[in-house]
Amino acid sequence: MLLREVEYAKPGSLAEALELLAANDGARALAGGQTIVNVMKARAASPDMLVDLNGLEELQGIELAGDGTLTIGAMTTYSELMASAEAKARPILGEVCATIADVQVRNRGTLGGNVCSNDPTNHLPPLMVAVSARMTVVGAGGEREVPAEEFFLGVYLTAVGPGELLTRISIPAGRKDGFAAVTLGAEGTCICNAAATVNGSVRVALGCVDAVPVLVTADSPEGVADAVRAADLMPPSDVHASCEYRMHLAGVLATRAAEEAAGR
Ligand SMILES: Cc1cc2nc3c(=O)[nH]c(=O)nc-3n(C[C@H](O)[C@H](O)[C@H](O)COP(=O)(O)OP(=O)(O)OC[C@H]3O[C@@H](n4cnc5c(N)ncnc54)[C@H](O)[C@@H]3O)c2cc1C
Repeated sequence: MLLREVEYAKPGSLAEALELLAANDGARALAGGQTIVNVMKARAASPDMLVDLNGLEELQGIELAGDGTLTIGAMTTYSELMASAEAKARPILGEVCATIADVQVRNRGTLGGNVCSNDPTNHLPPLMVAVSARMTVVGAGGEREVPAEEFFLGVYLTAVGPGELLTRISIPAGRKDGFAAVTLGAEGTCICNAAATVNGSVRVALGCVDAVPVLVTADSPEGVADAVRAADLMPPSDVHASCEYRMHLAGVLATRAAEEAAGR
């Protein structure tokens, strides 16, 4: 289906982008376009204006601080992250990005777009929760930091409000991480996924089982399956998997991710 007519703006600065979004209720940010353009083609959303974030310096770059904290600009593509020497400080990030879709999507799709769309089948929302990422959101009211656990609010809904933008993602130092997923084919979206970190205890975030990532903790990888059972999950059923099958996958994948994290 062809796109409905839409205005297009290419601001030269973050301030200009925020002004455009604040001045027009129907304006939406355009990052890699890999989700929003498809949504527009399907007429599931019809923004009046696309505000193109490509080229905004303030949303670019990957920095590694002395204490190991990574700061990643929202407009970083999966391919840029995979190629970044700095991002190797937290290897799981590049490893998971390398499994998202195909090379065309990885060359255009951005970390910011992935988390801001909060499609529950996406790879990055549970990963961001597991690694305790912090999201910087900017709007007319100034700048605030939102922990990933509070960032995802519902299907296609996040803490980024109208007229606001996600500018960067901060991820603390750490290497003991794991990720496991069952996908639709080799490069497909997830039927169920789990991201884990070990830092004393085990922290696992489950994706595709609810509208937002579900966080469970355990003392060891052996305790993760019980922790998932205790979470009383009620995942959706759809053409790809029943509720019961997703519940089963959640326990298996959470354990796999936790074992991978503990083994590093
Ligand atoms: C064929 C195909 C297969 C895919 N498979 C997978 C998969 O297996 N796993 C996976 O995780 N993803 C998958 N995706 C989705 C892909 O990863 C998208 O790139 C991603 O979800 C959105 O990123 P984007 O940069 O393209 O954002 P866009 O499509 O440009 O934007 C998405 C949404 O986020 C908003 N937005 C973007 N950036 C910001 C910002 N900085 N601040 C505020 N709001 C912002 C936009 O307004 C829009 O509402 C797939 C996509 C395609 C086309």
